[in-house]
Amino acid sequence: MRPFKFTKADSATSAVNLLSKNINASFLAGGTNIIDLMKEDVAHPDELINLGGLTLTGIKQLADGGLTLGALGKNTEAANHPVVRKNYPLLSKAILAGASAQIRNMATNGGNLLQRTRCSYFYDVSMPCNKREPGTGCGAMEGINRMHAIFGWSESCIAVYPSDMAVALLALNARVKVLSIDGKERTIAMADFHRLAGNQPEKDNNLQRGDLITAIEIPPNNFAAHSAYVKVRDRNSYAFALVSVAAALNLSGNTISSARITMGGVAHKPWAATEAEAFLKGKSATEANFREAAEIAMRDAKPLEHNKFKVEMGKRTIVLALKQALKG
Ligand SMILES: Cc1cc2nc3c(=O)[nH]c(=O)nc-3n(C[C@H](O)[C@H](O)[C@H](O)COP(=O)(O)OP(=O)(O)OC[C@H]3O[C@@H](n4cnc5c(N)ncnc54)[C@H](O)[C@@H]3O)c2cc1C
Ligand code: SF4
Repeated sequence: MRPFKFTKADSATSAVNLLSKNINASFLAGGTNIIDLMKEDVAHPDELINLGGLTLTGIKQLADGGLTLGALGKNTEAANHPVVRKNYPLLSKAILAGASAQIRNMATNGGNLLQRTRCSYFYDVSMPCNKREPGTGCGAMEGINRMHAIFGWSESCIAVYPSDMAVALLALNARVKVLSIDGKERTIAMADFHRLAGNQPEKDNNLQRGDLITAIEIPPNNFAAHSAYVKVRDRNSYAFALVSVAAALNLSGNTISSARITMGGVAHKPWAATEAEAFLKGKSATEANFREAAEIAMRDAKPLEHNKFKVEMGKRTIVLALKQALKG
């Protein structure tokens, strides 16, 4: 690992100020991703601004019935908090489907959203990678692209975004609160937070240089009784999703008043199957309708050489997740 300076921030404002003074600095939260990237020489900040002492933690209920998660709260706390388990079980299930207990004890909510792709060519500094080093090419395009995208990819990058938590947060219409370098606070909808690769795959999200995530807000909803997170992966732990699906239903009797279907492992960002959601609205909650929704969700998939299996896997996972959500 290259040498770096270690600086402790003692407030959110001091964190953004410290970062603004050094273009080569990065924030450090739980360190479970940034330190790995530094060890592999994929990332080489010359200064880490440690966020560890900040009080951006805790889980609070909002006046409107929603919830706010501190950006520096640990994934373990978010997954196991009684209010999250009761009102947002989808979020709890998605977090618990990720990583391991030890990693979740270190990983923070904000850091989870900003973890970088697990594309093996991105991690291998001997290979070309437009995300790691813009303009060098994409090793995965002609390489082994079994884990890669089937939606929204570009000629520049076919990587998928790895967070499970973010897939659930998109289904729950969450918002990310951010403090900018100019001291202003703003809120970004989860749907607008991550980016497709386009011709700038090095940019994973719509944050500006120096932005500090302070919290994640989740509005109230009626999905608690009928939601599910299904993650299909190569083995049962320490594996990122081949395909994952967050499904949530709001039911009036057996009629679907509203549905959410979001997917992980299929695109450069959490992917919302909006047409399938619209199809389900007003329909009966039957397996036949779930199957049709799954066909709609996957009909525009553009698989690569090695990941054609994800199309059928996506359909089956959507049906399974909707059936589990219905069962509650
Ligand atoms: C073996 C292994 C398996 C894993 N499996 C899964 C999995 O199956 N599913 C899954 O979803 N995740 C998985 N993860 C990823 C893990 O969840 C993330 O590494 C973790 O959530 C990142 O959080 P962190 O606090 O450690 O972030 P850090 O590593 O500290 O930071 C990550 C990035 O976010 C930036 N950052 C952190 N906090 C803020 C903030 N508040 N504002 C602005 N920038 C910030 C940092 O500068 C850095 O660029 C796995 C990780 C490992 C090591
Ligand atoms: S898919 Fe993206 S991250 Fe992977 S090698 Fe290609 S450019 Fe890099």
